[in-house]
Amino acid sequence: MTPLARQLRRQIAQAGPITLAEYMGRCLTDPEHGYYTGRDPLGAAGDFTTAPEISQLFGEMLGLCLAQAWADQGRPAPVTLAEPGPGRGTLMADILRAGRAMPGFVEAARVVLVEASPALRARQAQTLEGRGARWADSLDALPEAPLFLVANEFFDALPIRQFVRDGAAWRERMVGLDAAGGLAFGLSVPAPLAALSGRLADTAQGDVVETCPAAGPAMAAIAGRVARHGGAAVIVDYGGWRSLGDTLQAVRGHAPADPLDAPGLADLTAHVDFEALACAARAAGAAVTGPTPQGVLLERLGITARAQALAHGLSGPALDALAGAHRRLTHPDEMGSLFKALGVVPPGAPPLPGFDP
Ligand code: SAH
Repeated sequence: MTPLARQLRRQIAQAGPITLAEYMGRCLTDPEHGYYTGRDPLGAAGDFTTAPEISQLFGEMLGLCLAQAWADQGRPAPVTLAEPGPGRGTLMADILRAGRAMPGFVEAARVVLVEASPALRARQAQTLEGRGARWADSLDALPEAPLFLVANEFFDALPIRQFVRDGAAWRERMVGLDAAGGLAFGLSVPAPLAALSGRLADTAQGDVVETCPAAGPAMAAIAGRVARHGGAAVIVDYGGWRSLGDTLQAVRGHAPADPLDAPGLADLTAHVDFEALACAARAAGAAVTGPTPQGVLLERLGITARAQALAHGLSGPALDALAGAHRRLTHPDEMGSLFKALGVVPPGAPPLPGFDP
């Protein structure tokens, strides 16, 4: 049994079942035993791999997108160049390198990272040494200034709640204890839920709807700054438009795991509801574009021409690896369709490169 499992069992035995969001939050970012708190889970030796760790092509394309948006908005300076959930700092390093193609952009940028994990903060400091990066504790702490922001696989790590439709009411999925004292899922008693009254029309008995309580405030902090001061945000993640169905997943060592099996030792994520993000961004005064499939966005931003340029002089395994990375990032059977990008800009701003006008 993991130390966190022991803590949670004791807490639930004393105070009763907890919501899935509380469970997920403890599993991921508990200050002592959280999954992210003490480890770098990325890469082949870790539990999962992300787009920036697959290839520099990903960050280069997003860097060019942001740098072009900065130029299109009249080259403001200084600006915040921010990233929540920056992992190893690879994406930001690639953005800063590619961003040099746009004279003045990198010089205007003050890099701010929002990261919950001390272990990953240390890793980011290594990757971005000499770039003047600083860390903020939350998106609310970002400067009131023009904001250029990228987030990749950040929102899928925010804790979700799950509700099961029961007549005109909802039962919340809770984490409690089974007869043997082990962690087990259960359901609360049915209750009407004002926040989900809009979902009674498009769901049926037994359907699962997920909400992400932290996502709206996070998006409002981003979109509010973009609306007030200018800038652009690109949010990349897997998910769809309007939550429907149970999308909670646990991954350990690149393989699916039981989400209750080893709290603190497995990554827990859920699909991102882009409709909820878009609503929060619009409510904060910003305009939204997309979601655009990741493969389509990267193709429009020129990933194939860049891959061809990098392929010059390569052969054998190095060339195969480059072609494989390009395919993995863009092909609909790989990350190209499941992953989507949402663009956030000030109302009336020029269209964001690669997104629909
Ligand atoms: N963007 C990176 C890493 C994705 S993994 C990449 O694409 O490789 C998720 C990241 O979000 C990690 O850096 C994790 O520590 C961070 N994270 C998770 N929950 C967070 C929270 N509540 N606040 C800030 N960062 C968080």
